[in-house]
Amino acid sequence: MTLVPTMGLEIHAELLTKSKIFCSCRNEFGGEKNSRICPVCAGLPGALPVLNKDAVTLAVCAGLALDCRINNYSAFDRKNYFYPDLPKAYQITQFEYPICEDGVVQLASKQIRINRIHIEEDAGKLIHDGESGLTEIDFNRCGVPLIEIVTEPDFESAEQVVDFVNEVSLRLKYAGVCDAHLEKGSLRVDVNISLKVEDSKELGVRAEIKNLNSVRSIRRAIEYEIERQSALLQNGEPVIQQTRRFSEQSGKTTVLRNKESTSDYRYFPEPNLPPIIIDESDIEIIKNSMPEMPQVKFARYTEKYGLSEDDARLILADKAFSDFFEAAVTDTNCKTVANLMLGELNRNLNESGIGIGNIAFSPADLAALAALAIESKVSLNAAKEILSTMFKSGGKPCEIAERESLFLKDNTAELGEIVTKVLSDNTENVKSYIGGNQKLFGFFMGEVMHRAGRGTNPAAVREILSENLEKISLSCEKNS
Ligand code: ZN
Ligand code: MN
Repeated sequence: MTLVPTMGLEIHAELLTKSKIFCSCRNEFGGEKNSRICPVCAGLPGALPVLNKDAVTLAVCAGLALDCRINNYSAFDRKNYFYPDLPKAYQITQFEYPICEDGVVQLASKQIRINRIHIEEDAGKLIHDGESGLTEIDFNRCGVPLIEIVTEPDFESAEQVVDFVNEVSLRLKYAGVCDAHLEKGSLRVDVNISLKVEDSKELGVRAEIKNLNSVRSIRRAIEYEIERQSALLQNGEPVIQQTRRFSEQSGKTTVLRNKESTSDYRYFPEPNLPPIIIDESDIEIIKNSMPEMPQVKFARYTEKYGLSEDDARLILADKAFSDFFEAAVTDTNCKTVANLMLGELNRNLNESGIGIGNIAFSPADLAALAALAIESKVSLNAAKEILSTMFKSGGKPCEIAERESLFLKDNTAELGEIVTKVLSDNTENVKSYIGGNQKLFGFFMGEVMHRAGRGTNPAAVREILSENLEKISLSCEKNS
């Protein structure tokens, strides 16, 4: 039998608020253990939560970025479970009434539906010391605001999962909702995965792989899990509903616990927090405060600017990079600006390790440089050379072109004579070229460029050279 995977995701994203969700402790990553805790987030008896409005705003932004419906009414529940990183022994989350529902994200290959987005608090962090066998608890992360994005089981391959995670990360970053560092844990991906017989309507029993912290781990864990489950099923053994952990070292998943069902959590309404009421005008205000989303930019880059989908994606992958692009681009220079940025500028950024926010020239300088190339005042190679100089020491493109003699000379009249001279000086090579040795064209180009000097337009040389060689070739044919 042919088995095919079905997958759904739960993605936890830490919200970029200044303080935690129910207290005024700072919301920051790292730092000394237990240095940012108070009676509320440490779960002391009698301490009462107060909702941070910014967390609600960012959750709404996330919902809008992922095309969800924003619910006018949502409310908090308690999810009860006992674990050392959860001092209250319950997590405040949204169960019955989530803040966002019914989203949709269009990937290149597939449309993925989002079931819901809800707001909840993060738990602390357990630090296991292998040597002593002791475990330390850091409560700094307790009470950090999270959203949990839950998709429908719409994924059929690891590739689709990775595409979705990348797209969601990008949108959350643009929207200022989350910095989406998988490695730091500010975005954490859980994959629910089951196998079913191809074309069957009935889904198989699933396993949930928790907390995958890199795109590579996501891919490897899914591949491993597909193999593990299909081996079981092909042997007639059942898959058990489990929560599993993926190990980077072994490349395998192992059982963390047999999966709880929702009833084990004894959800009930949180009595200490009022419901969240958002009306349409609140949503409108938040919508208007949001920057343009990458999927909207993508459409503009490919349709209006005529960039390839790959180039558009590369530019959009970094917000500061796309901001620079948009500040330099006009209706007429888009391709040249994109080429210079994705080629020479990227090379310089990578080699120097400098961020695009700190470079020595402005978007206007880049636009001026692109104009020189477009108007054929400098060659494309010269434009790249100028960009590297601007990157290293600043300066205006015109000044650099002047100083380095990179302006194309208007020496077309002179070029005819030089070409004739080069060909008559190299009659053996000309014969060989006409005999079929095409490579010699480069040699002639080099000779002419050398004799004509810096600033000679290679396109003009190529044209005159081709014309002359063709004439010689034709007269040879006539004579023979
Ligand atoms: Zn606190
Ligand atoms: Mn959760």
